[in-house]
Amino acid sequence: MRRFFAELPDASAGTLVTLPVDESLHASRTLRLRPGERVGLLDGRGVSVAATLVGTGGRVAAEITGPLPSAEPRLRVTLWQGLPKLDKLERIIQKSTELGARRIIPTLFGRCDVRVFPAERVTRGNRVARESSKQCGRAWCPPVEPLASFDECVARVGGGGAAAYLLWERASEPFAECFAKRPPGMDRAIIIVGPEGGISDEEAERLQGAGALAVSLGPRILRTETAPIAALALMFGLSGDLG
Ligand code: SAM
Repeated sequence: MRRFFAELPDASAGTLVTLPVDESLHASRTLRLRPGERVGLLDGRGVSVAATLVGTGGRVAAEITGPLPSAEPRLRVTLWQGLPKLDKLERIIQKSTELGARRIIPTLFGRCDVRVFPAERVTRGNRVARESSKQCGRAWCPPVEPLASFDECVARVGGGGAAAYLLWERASEPFAECFAKRPPGMDRAIIIVGPEGGISDEEAERLQGAGALAVSLGPRILRTETAPIAALALMFGLSGDLG
């Protein structure tokens, strides 16, 4: 089923929805969809419905037929990602969106080689997340935020409310074992991944001092773009949202 983003203030069956211009063009010109075609509509904020196209041309409209089952994981995971080279960041955004990350926050660590995340790349990152959500059928599109400072990351960890896991190759506790000990019903978590240059001892100490649990993903050093994907797959696998 082809999926399109649309505003869905009223998601009840029978509601007529006009697709935004870019999605209309995609449906009518690129995909050449015709009236009667069954499609999925996603609002990017958690609502997804099935619909039937009722007209094609300049602006495409669709009539909602009913809700679609949710593809959202129950566990909401925010990824604080040490800013890597921007092409790698886009790969991380794409894959972590597919896996189910809730929010992605590029973060400046002392050892980041790249130190700026220009506004146009933030926009592009959000576009990558949007395309990825659409492709995998997620009604939630994870926001990709502007560059956060390391201090903001520490403050968020210290703010409580979510278990925070610091992925650190020098940690002794395996992530899977640590995650298995999570409180029953835990529905929010943070994962923190260092950039290509890694996390300094001082940064690791500050994060742990704020309450982050340092965890290992095994004896091999993973690339900064591999570590968050491995961690998300593990978390969603263990919590029953993958596999
Ligand atoms: N510090 C290393 C160095 O400079 O050789 C490499 C950093 S690694 C490329 C980037 C990030 O991936 C690390 O900061 C960490 O967050 C995560 N990472 C990589 N391998 C890991 C492992 N085996 N266990 C936990 N985290 C890992």
